[in-house]
Amino acid sequence: MKNCAIVGINWGDEGKGRMVDLLTEDYDVVVRYQGGGNAGHTVINEFGKFALHLLPSGIFRKGTMNILGNGVALDPENLLREIRQVREKGVEITPENLMISERASLLLPWHRELDGLEEKRLAGKKFGSTKQGIAPFYSDKAAKKTVLAGELFYPEELREHLSDLLEWKNLTLEKVYSARPYTMIYLEQWLKDYCEPLMPFIKNTSAWLRDADNAGRKILFEAQLGALRDLDYGIHPYTTSSNPIAAYAPVGSGYPKAKLDRVIGVVKAYSTCVGEGPFVSEIFGEEGDALREAGQEYGAKTGRPRRVGALDLVATRYGVEMQGATEIALTKLDVLSYLDEIPVCTKYLVDGKETEDFPFPTALKNAKPVLVTVPGWHQDISGVRRFEDLPKAAQDYVLMIEKGTGCFVKYVSVGPERESIIER
Ligand code: GDP
Repeated sequence: MKNCAIVGINWGDEGKGRMVDLLTEDYDVVVRYQGGGNAGHTVINEFGKFALHLLPSGIFRKGTMNILGNGVALDPENLLREIRQVREKGVEITPENLMISERASLLLPWHRELDGLEEKRLAGKKFGSTKQGIAPFYSDKAAKKTVLAGELFYPEELREHLSDLLEWKNLTLEKVYSARPYTMIYLEQWLKDYCEPLMPFIKNTSAWLRDADNAGRKILFEAQLGALRDLDYGIHPYTTSSNPIAAYAPVGSGYPKAKLDRVIGVVKAYSTCVGEGPFVSEIFGEEGDALREAGQEYGAKTGRPRRVGALDLVATRYGVEMQGATEIALTKLDVLSYLDEIPVCTKYLVDGKETEDFPFPTALKNAKPVLVTVPGWHQDISGVRRFEDLPKAAQDYVLMIEKGTGCFVKYVSVGPERESIIER
């Protein structure tokens, strides 16, 4: 089993960061293949607690190479800040353990600004953007209106390219949003302050990955967000602007011929969803508040309270399928320990008909959850390390997920710390 992707099965925030942190020990290389600074992976280890937005979670392991692939929205300002913060806790970050693909596009200063301007224009109809410039960035990438990181090594051509982009983007800023235009002087300073310090990390990572793969080194692909936020397969238009599905990992990593031997789908023991959009199994009121508190469900990037809900087997089955998950890592089972009985959504009711299939996005707003309740275990399980030592009701909960998704639950996480894990 050589290469592996760790991906989110649901709406994101499933606990992928803690799984990658745990499993990097077995891998030589960790690659981020999509997304940008718009979400955060929380990792707790011997260096402290971190919310990683851009850095691959393998950055804490000695001897692990971390790569930001071409599919990533490379936000120089955020990345530099993150490198500084992680270094301050005693973690070494050098070109020996971090590389940036020369083919990654730079998230330019106006992308973040445009995100805010567009959400303001949409007002009541907003999509719940994290305002990190991700949607404007990926739109411009598809329109070939971004700059590749490797262009930093060609200063003359870069300035001409940037000046063309500036002229074009200022039209939108001034005419559509009545915003202030950017100047070349501003961009020159931005290049100096935020891009030049990154240059030692920028490499031909495709060639490096090819050589690493040929040498038998094991590669871990790390995703951001989850299947339901996938640009093509998610809850359109409340998705992100990239593809968190595992099938995209080879493309966005810079090594398109990579083979995935394992796809670990991370599922939370209940549901959470940040921002707008349909969320069928949502729990409101006091019950919702209690679950949010128990799971400390507040956004890693924005601090926004997350919407919470019952485990949704319809969405989870769909996520497992879209990800091609070969196994599940179930996280936060310990959070449910306070409940006497646990609600689970097994089907949806759409226009009076029960279905186990995840509906077309437009139909989702009419979907109602069909809920069952299963017994809770009502005892602390955070110290358990063997499946057979879990209370019977907790074992049954895990087996129900396995049956409902048709996918083996290989890991059960019972706490945020690296060692709080049961492996089956
Ligand atoms: P990610 O983006 O998928 O990595 O998820 P986040 O980092 O946004 O959210 C996961 C949160 O749950 C973090 O605060 C983790 O420390 C925490 N966490 C992960 N696994 C567990 C677990 O098994 N139990 C508990 N109590 N917390 C966990």
